Amino acid sequence: MNKKIPFFDYPQAYLSDRDDVLKIIDSVSSKGSFILQSELEIFEKSLAEFSNSAFALGVGNATDGLELAWMSVNLQEGDEVIISSHTMLATASAIKLSGGTPVPVDIGDDGLIDVNSIESAITSKTKGISPTHLNGRTCDMDSITRIAEKYDLVIIEDAAQALGSTFKGKQAGTFGYASAISFYPAKVLGCLGDGGAILTNSQSTYSKLKMMRDHGRNENGEVEMWGRNSRLDNIQAAILDFRLASYQEVIKRRREIASIYHDELQNVNELYLPPPPSGGNNFDIFQNYEIQAELRDKLKLHLANDGIGTLIQWGGKAVHHMSNLGFDQDLLKTDLFFQRCIMLPMNMFISNDDVQYICKSIKKFYSIENG
Ligand SMILES: *Cc1c(COP(=O)(O)O)cnc(C)c1O
Repeated sequence: MNKKIPFFDYPQAYLSDRDDVLKIIDSVSSKGSFILQSELEIFEKSLAEFSNSAFALGVGNATDGLELAWMSVNLQEGDEVIISSHTMLATASAIKLSGGTPVPVDIGDDGLIDVNSIESAITSKTKGISPTHLNGRTCDMDSITRIAEKYDLVIIEDAAQALGSTFKGKQAGTFGYASAISFYPAKVLGCLGDGGAILTNSQSTYSKLKMMRDHGRNENGEVEMWGRNSRLDNIQAAILDFRLASYQEVIKRRREIASIYHDELQNVNELYLPPPPSGGNNFDIFQNYEIQAELRDKLKLHLANDGIGTLIQWGGKAVHHMSNLGFDQDLLKTDLFFQRCIMLPMNMFISNDDVQYICKSIKKFYSIENG
């Protein structure tokens, strides 16, 4: 009777479309097309079209994408960029390693950056905002864009978790100067290793970043500027292009799973759920189903005993908790969130039965706890 539901089944990320993927690897490799070849260009076109962005550029991973984007705006020492504290450290390190200072701020009820906290954190040194579209939900980009215009700030979006998510019909990653998307295997659109892309609507930004990802070389191989090596492998691009073709169905399925979780768990008093998939301003793709739960650690153990894998995002640490890196902000809402947050299985390999089993197990836990 006991099921085994891993949080994410990594072998399945390959086995579920293995035959197609093997064919792609074989055909691309047999041509010797490994680096910056036609498959990459084809995927970049598909991705730009899918996300309604003027340009897409394959890079080594989303972290590199963010860093390249920040490098291209020439941050000076002391320049501050506001980020959410509930994000991957990559959002912060990209700013730091390109010469700026990341400034984490508090989150709102949905776990995304709190717009009022952004405005309170602005100083004379603030140069940008890097909002993270967390868990596949786009930030309130009306407000963020308004603040950026008011204070003349650059927006670089961390869209690593949000390909296909929209706010008022506009795609995550297309609001600012540039954005980065991740194709890490557990991301909604994943490849077989590291991979990422930059989106931008600006021709000049695109041209610059295209050189910067390839040692600063232009199309003729002449070096025009300092750059680095961060290119999306051609084989990965070919696999991603194949997977992008069925991506809408993937999003649909994930939203279906989120609906079941919502219906089954909304009346559990000890839980705080993310907004359900709805027809409002946000179209969420549910990279994660992250809830807040009373007695979180005990619940996690209980679920593990029932064979259910869960994960606490970022190893349980928000950016401002990383005192080794010099952060010392007091962000009370984020602190509370991190005492309670936990992610339930959300992927293409779980059935409706699995989701029901998970919800049942959670309800059983709280009924025992409440006597
Ligand atoms: C996954 C992720 C990244 C990093 O992506 P990589 O491709 O692994 O570099 C950055 N930010 C967020 C929010 C992420 O979820």
